Amino acid sequence: MSLLIETLPELAVFGGAPAFAEPKHVGAPNIGNRAALMQRIETILDNRRLSNRGPMVREFEDRVAAIAGVKHCVAMCNGTVALEIGARALNLTGEVIVPSFTFVATAHALKWQGLEPVFCDIDPVTHNLDPARVEALITPRTTGILAVHLWGRPAAVKQLEAVAMRHGLRLMFDAAHAFGSHLGGQPIGGSGDLEIFSFHATKFLNTAEGGAVVTNDDALAERVRLMQNFGFVGKDQVVALGVNGKMNEMSAAMGLTSLESMDEFLAVAHRNFRAWQREVASIPGLEMKTGGPDVSTNHQYIVVEVECHRAGLSRDDLVTALHAENVLARRYFYPGCHHMEPYRSSPPTGGYQLPQTEALCTRVMVLPTGTAVSLADIARMGDLLREMVGNGPEISHHLRMREKEQQT
Ligand SMILES: *Cc1c(COP(=O)(O)O)cnc(C)c1O
Repeated sequence: MSLLIETLPELAVFGGAPAFAEPKHVGAPNIGNRAALMQRIETILDNRRLSNRGPMVREFEDRVAAIAGVKHCVAMCNGTVALEIGARALNLTGEVIVPSFTFVATAHALKWQGLEPVFCDIDPVTHNLDPARVEALITPRTTGILAVHLWGRPAAVKQLEAVAMRHGLRLMFDAAHAFGSHLGGQPIGGSGDLEIFSFHATKFLNTAEGGAVVTNDDALAERVRLMQNFGFVGKDQVVALGVNGKMNEMSAAMGLTSLESMDEFLAVAHRNFRAWQREVASIPGLEMKTGGPDVSTNHQYIVVEVECHRAGLSRDDLVTALHAENVLARRYFYPGCHHMEPYRSSPPTGGYQLPQTEALCTRVMVLPTGTAVSLADIARMGDLLREMVGNGPEISHHLRMREKEQQT
């Protein structure tokens, strides 16, 4: 064993120095022009207009609607509240079909509204809802489908619209990842009854915290607007039950500043994606899938699938070895919503039947990208991955020994 260690490379997992002095994160915020942001904040303070659909929020809503190609954008305090208000505005009741392979907010938003998320399996290539399986899960209690454009890859929009139409269901899209993505040349945003965006700090375009509901339905947009502002019309007339889902002016200032740099963020995301593709292509057992020919995504996530047998080590061991190098790869969306509470403790009769989701949850890792990640960083991370896969069995053996030591 000691002889083996001596011939091993200087990987940090074996005790070498980490390749990166500072951690490389997935989702380090993309930040636009600071001077432009400060100027906007000065304007906000000068005007003493901090919230309640001030000029910054109005401008942000107009710009987002134009980019998403929709009639209405209602800016929100975050994407989760956008999902909740969206579900309520659609009068959803009973069961709503949703993927389990998503960020837990997708399911939580429904459950928080007293709805029952019914988890549906996904297509192993796109990682998005499988429309045939959606149809098989429809019951008399089903009122809607909440599909996700996971990783910014458009869901099977046309097929899902057909399923919703056939069964008289409402259809909403969690487009938290998909601002700036396109399907068949059309921007993501105008499908189903409504779509929601997240502008959280970690998303491709951020307002620090923020989100939006977008729709082409005039009456629905009106209902969403009422609900996000306590049901107020005018100064003291309340016509509906509402909540506070408003975006503030500071966040809108950040959003407008981010939008000015959106082309640059996109260019960097695409450049980094191509660089990662070149690295991953030469590493056995690692694979990056791309959307179909009619798809263009914002590439805000670098999604790599690890085939354990070909790579010689598991996704989990690879992620452990990367973390030792200060490359903070993430196991999104492990372990799947259905393995999280409260869903884990209340499975449907017969249990969850999600084989594709289960398999993907052991395979997928997400690697650092965004404007905080350079081509040199990617080349270095590519070298590390190559070295790790080249020494897969040794790394796995070393980690098992370490686990055993820690147990005794
Ligand atoms: C980030 C995210 C959300 C929630 O958005 P917040 O703005 O963080 O509330 C919802 N769904 C998905 C898929 C997400 O990734």
